[in-house]
Amino acid sequence: MSAKVYRPENWSGSPLESESAQLVGGRCLSCGKVFFPRFNACPSCASRRPMSEVRLSRRATLYSYSVIHVNTPGFKAPYAVGYVDMAEGPRVFGHLDGWQDGPVPLDTAVEIYAGPIGKDRDGEELISVRFRPLAGERNSTGGA
Ligand SMILES: [Zn+2]
Repeated sequence: MSAKVYRPENWSGSPLESESAQLVGGRCLSCGKVFFPRFNACPSCASRRPMSEVRLSRRATLYSYSVIHVNTPGFKAPYAVGYVDMAEGPRVFGHLDGWQDGPVPLDTAVEIYAGPIGKDRDGEELISVRFRPLAGERNSTGGA
């Protein structure tokens, strides 16, 4: 089976070759804010100085998510997508794991990893951003 990474420029290395690949954001050299993905101009202060690369942490907290119940080309429903907040500042979009076991509380700590999200128009598996709730941090009544 073949696979390809969606927007490989967003990763510190090839997620197909290393599980330790991290998302790479950009830090504005004028105001210091961090964004993901990197922009050519700062959305905050409009500076056009090139952003410096910042490797984002692999942990974040769940901001919000939705379960999708409709198939779309390349994506087999049901699946869940949402946003997480990074410690460095950016809010990042991706696919969420663990929702099949019950609601995932907002602010749940998640691990970010590269995993399959669907298929492209040629039927090739796409690898992109996924979120995995961290065991023991899912809720106050759950077990390990
Ligand atoms: Zn700026």
